[in-house]
Amino acid sequence: MTDDAVLSGGCLCGAIRFEVTPPTKWCAHCHCSLCRRAHGAAFVTWFGVESSQFAVIAGERGLKWYRSSEAARRGFCARCGSTLFFESDSWPGEIHIALAHMDGPIDRAPAAHVFYDSRASWVEVGDALRCLGGPSGNEELDPG
Ligand SMILES: [Zn+2]
Ligand SMILES: [Zn+2]
Repeated sequence: MTDDAVLSGGCLCGAIRFEVTPPTKWCAHCHCSLCRRAHGAAFVTWFGVESSQFAVIAGERGLKWYRSSEAARRGFCARCGSTLFFESDSWPGEIHIALAHMDGPIDRAPAAHVFYDSRASWVEVGDALRCLGGPSGNEELDPG
């Protein structure tokens, strides 16, 4: 893959297809309770990209948005329920995409665990990535 190759992804049923033009901005595992519940998963691996580098190329009518907090909304497929996208006033002009919906690897690997202090009690992470948390979800945590 060349660095500027367009990345593609889609939902479970295939109705919604989208493309991302690299470079992406970041990639991280989010352990916040909202992501956990929205995706029905232990944590969600997101990457961020400028909205101008993102395009829905099929199934846009089936893309529904749920306002999960005052500042944020989550995009999902109305047909199969796949939880695809996240946008927040905290990151204007940026869209967050769940990495698991991509057809292949992107231009970077996950770099950290965020909101790690909100993680499910039954989750233990064994990799070497930084574990961040605090009010922003992105601050160094005191060891122990
Ligand atoms: Zn779908
Ligand atoms: Zn989250």
